Amino acid sequence: MELNEEQQLNEIKTNLEKVKKQIAEACIRIGREPSSVRLLPVTKTVPAERLRIAYAAGCHEMGENKIQEAREKSELLSDLNIRWAVIGHLQRNKAKYLARFANEFQALDSLKLAEELDKRLQNEGRAIDVYVQVNSSGEASKFGLAPENVRDFVMQLPSFSSLRIKGLMTLAIFSTDHDRVRACFVRMREIQTMLRQEAPDGLSFDELSMGMSGDYEIAIEEGATVVRVGQAIFGKRPLPDSHYWPGVG
Ligand SMILES: *Cc1c(COP(=O)(O)O)cnc(C)c1O
Repeated sequence: MELNEEQQLNEIKTNLEKVKKQIAEACIRIGREPSSVRLLPVTKTVPAERLRIAYAAGCHEMGENKIQEAREKSELLSDLNIRWAVIGHLQRNKAKYLARFANEFQALDSLKLAEELDKRLQNEGRAIDVYVQVNSSGEASKFGLAPENVRDFVMQLPSFSSLRIKGLMTLAIFSTDHDRVRACFVRMREIQTMLRQEAPDGLSFDELSMGMSGDYEIAIEEGATVVRVGQAIFGKRPLPDSHYWPGVG
């Protein structure tokens, strides 16, 4: 049975509280401040009307993995003050759309894309927060730079004045084997440590965006500062993960 608006509001609020509590508990387990982790609600496949309810429940930033869907929702919800994060792969010819509305882009993985995005942002007179995506699992189905290529890539980034480089993003391996998942997050922390010493001035690598509904507690234990959580807040998506990440699941 369909829930009415008030029931949906309560459900989202309850889920948010549960996730926030688990974030806080994971932080406390390893001696981190709960406020050091930002919860980014991931809203892909959730209809715009339900996002109005989510906004009322306290979700004022939203992460989307597809530019077209993000763009449509940002237009439908333009009367709300939502901070939009695009967290999925972006084709270069779509950079112009992202430049118009997004506040953050978490999937930078090529210099050509950086160039195009920077140019389009300058046209719009805007600058956004950017995360470099790393393929920490080595799976062919995942986007992102190979860990060994991150350093050289990052050395080229200071030339893009509209990209405020904030940190790194990854998706861990989809596996029930926690050790393999954790190994991806550990690899990210090691890359972060290296970049903090070697990256050019003006770029910051303080942020580590890693952890989703199934693995955010492990990610926090290994240093995540941003967790991207969808299903634990909005319920199971109608389609399996293999639909969103071909080759998985
Ligand atoms: C969908 C998605 C998430 C969130 O996944 P959930 O299982 O819904 O928590 C996180 N990051 C990216 C890049 C995604 O596409």
